[in-house]
Amino acid sequence: MDSELQADLQAENQALRRQLESLLREARNNEEKIRRFDQLEHRLIGARSMAELLSLLLNDYRQAFGIDAVSMVLLDRDDEACRMLDAERHRHEGPAGAQGQEPALLDGLTLLPTIAPIAPLFQGQLNKPWLGAFDELRHRPLFGTPHIARSQTLASVALLPLARHGELIGSLHFGSSDPARYERGAGTQLLERLCAIVSVCLDSALNQERLKLAGLTDMLTGVHNRRYFEHRCLIEIAQARRYRHELACLFLDLDHFKRINDRHGHPAGDEVLRSIGHLIQSQLRLGDTIARFGGEEFVVLLPQAPAQAAREIAERIRASIAARALLLPSGEFIPATVSVGLAMLAADSAAEDPQAQALRLVDAADQALYRAKSSGRNRVECGPAAVAAVVVNK
Ligand code: GH3
Ligand code: MG
Ligand code: MG
Repeated sequence: MDSELQADLQAENQALRRQLESLLREARNNEEKIRRFDQLEHRLIGARSMAELLSLLLNDYRQAFGIDAVSMVLLDRDDEACRMLDAERHRHEGPAGAQGQEPALLDGLTLLPTIAPIAPLFQGQLNKPWLGAFDELRHRPLFGTPHIARSQTLASVALLPLARHGELIGSLHFGSSDPARYERGAGTQLLERLCAIVSVCLDSALNQERLKLAGLTDMLTGVHNRRYFEHRCLIEIAQARRYRHELACLFLDLDHFKRINDRHGHPAGDEVLRSIGHLIQSQLRLGDTIARFGGEEFVVLLPQAPAQAAREIAERIRASIAARALLLPSGEFIPATVSVGLAMLAADSAAEDPQAQALRLVDAADQALYRAKSSGRNRVECGPAAVAAVVVNK
């Protein structure tokens, strides 16, 4: 064999070897990518709450795949997701505050009342991610949260539509400073799989959260139930103690409610209970808690409300109910009134077990309510701590 031919063969051989090595490297890389993807997929499926699921996508996914920016938009028509995340944050805070895990950081999440701003990104293609060059005008708003603005400039993006039952419910966005990372026309198998899995996981997380909320809601009036109140009371007591805030508790009971049932029937009584629940709620701030304690009794927690303010709120609730006639299912309007007992969390019991303190607080409000009843109804009476505080405030 002449030496020229030998050299050619050798060169060809080396080129083939390099090609083979590069293919093997790519295969190993893909294998490693699939392995990491599988791991994350298992965690997504195993997520026990909405916040955990979102945090996996926004934080863990970014780290596991070295993505420069991750953001997400979720449809939240009735503030449902917002309330779920809020309830979950409270659960994490736990009754004793420090006991709970840190709530997940959800930087990069945007909840939207309508899907209109993201729908044009996909133009009806709800099962395929869109890959391509980063466009400042179209894509910056998707990555516009302060957390992401800090990261380097983006050159390519992958936009994943999240859809359930043929409808867009949100979108997940990955951004990279590498223009080749999400090239138009590149293979999207893994991303398509991710789309499908995230969509199903989101749907199931929403349903799970709905069930949790249902267990804490009073079905007749739509306000929280006693179980939720007892849980929330411990949280509010812990917060009040930690930050030296005041905490007021109102116990409200409908006056002569039995007569309403007797005269107008049980369904009319039910309607009155619903109206009263709404009326009380409408007088409260976002951080206040209202619950149906049982029968025709409601409880309210007013965090950071000094006695004087709490007394004014109680009086406002009482007056707003007494001032209006309530509509019955028959079309008839009837008057109704409530009696209210007010108690303040005792400042002298910091060492006491929160459970015992909660019982004492509710009991004090109940005793004040009893006095309101026996002194004529349709009035607000204050427990001893509240009375003392009112005098001090004057
Ligand atoms: P007071 O002013 O002393 O509180 O008198 P009252 O009639 O409101 O109190 P009482 O405890 O005698 O009666 C409460 C009534 O509330 C009796 C019960 O049938 C009625 N009730 C309890 N739960 C419900 C309910 O879910 N729906 C209806 N319609 N009535 C209820
Ligand atoms: Mg009662
Ligand atoms: Mg009553």
